[in-house]
Amino acid sequence: APLSGQKEEPCGAELCTSMEGLCDTVVGVLGGGQLGRMLCQAASPMGIRVAVLDPMENCPASSIAYRHAVGSFRDTNAVRKFAEGCGVLTVEIEHVDVDTLDALAKEGVDVEPKPSTIRIIQDKYLQKVHFREHGVALPEFMKIDNAESAEEAGRIFGYPLMLKSRRLAYDGRGNAVVRSKEDLANAVSLLGGYERGLYAEKWAPFVKELAVMVARGRDASVSSFPVVETTHKDNICHTVEAPARVSSGVAKLAMDAAEKAIRSLDGAGVFGVELFLLADGQVLLNEVAPRPHNSGHYTIEACFVSQYEQHLRAVLGLPLGDPSMKVPSALMYNLLGEDDGEAGFALAHKLLQKAVSVPGASVHWYEKPEIRRQRKMGHITLVGPTASVVRARLNSIIGSTESSNN
Ligand code: ATP
Ligand code: MG
Ligand code: MG
Repeated sequence: APLSGQKEEPCGAELCTSMEGLCDTVVGVLGGGQLGRMLCQAASPMGIRVAVLDPMENCPASSIAYRHAVGSFRDTNAVRKFAEGCGVLTVEIEHVDVDTLDALAKEGVDVEPKPSTIRIIQDKYLQKVHFREHGVALPEFMKIDNAESAEEAGRIFGYPLMLKSRRLAYDGRGNAVVRSKEDLANAVSLLGGYERGLYAEKWAPFVKELAVMVARGRDASVSSFPVVETTHKDNICHTVEAPARVSSGVAKLAMDAAEKAIRSLDGAGVFGVELFLLADGQVLLNEVAPRPHNSGHYTIEACFVSQYEQHLRAVLGLPLGDPSMKVPSALMYNLLGEDDGEAGFALAHKLLQKAVSVPGASVHWYEKPEIRRQRKMGHITLVGPTASVVRARLNSIIGSTESSNN
């Protein structure tokens, strides 16, 4: 059925025989991990059909997707074949075959956000160049090609500095902290050598990390979810607290920076914007994801529209929903594999068991085919009347040893 809002014949054959609810466009998602899974979950109540392309037979989205094409989102033939059955293509991971997406878009296939956006974002160095050119404040950075340029970065930025892989980075895999000049060579080889494509970033002495999910409609209008506070452990997202406990001035700065960044990109969808808050109140951009994001999981329980539903609305050209919170406070806790294999599931299992009896706690398990150490296996979101209540509820699950880490 058309989305135009025009009234159809009251009972035209088309309407009566069609299976579709809100729209009949099949949304094709490159990637079938937990983000793809939650996109499928959000699509289900609206009768929207989400197909996923993922190489893993039993990927997290496979059991609930409208269709799961087994194939690689980095393989041109797989992507092309997948696209044939979809009305719009989008991504749940940025590390995809963007050349093929680009070619498809030129052939008239609808890709959201635009391949140009995915191309900029998938190379973190190009991403930083792009945002610097668009006047978004971010830590100083420079490309590293050899030992000389690495040492030069050390001279200019001082130590510690952050060495990063340009491509294929996630959950801190691709980052190395360099504490001194002597540390450089080791960090470089840890990241796979100069050939891997590296850049250096000045250390950001943040007092907090903030994040904002920004939705961009097909008409280029932007709409932001609340500013949240994130904590990381070993470079991996650990907790997300919403709303962020910052002044309204800081929240506005964060939101303005995030929206400025997203306005500089092309195409529809939700974008995860990670930010550093410095002691002097400055807000710097860390990075952007062109898709739903870990820092937006909390929106499922805490906002009028979740980031997943919002992403679907955006790419389909439906009106964007209300991103504001419908509860006063929310806290998300990531469940990571403790170890490889079954043993790594013991703690997460215990936490899940505890969480189901805690008021306001929602349990998410991704059904990953393999438990791996430090991999995201699920998450728990707590909602409640105040930040201290949700914090106490989380502590009743994880034990107060970990209690408020700030
Ligand atoms: P993601 O899973 O979010 O994609 P990633 O692998 O792309 O992660 P980054 O976001 O670059 O990694 O960095 C991960 C974490 O490392 C940040 O959230 C922050 O805690 C820390 N970090 C990154 N860059 C810097 C910096 N320049 N100064 C200080 N800390 C940093
Ligand atoms: Mg990243
Ligand atoms: Mg990050």
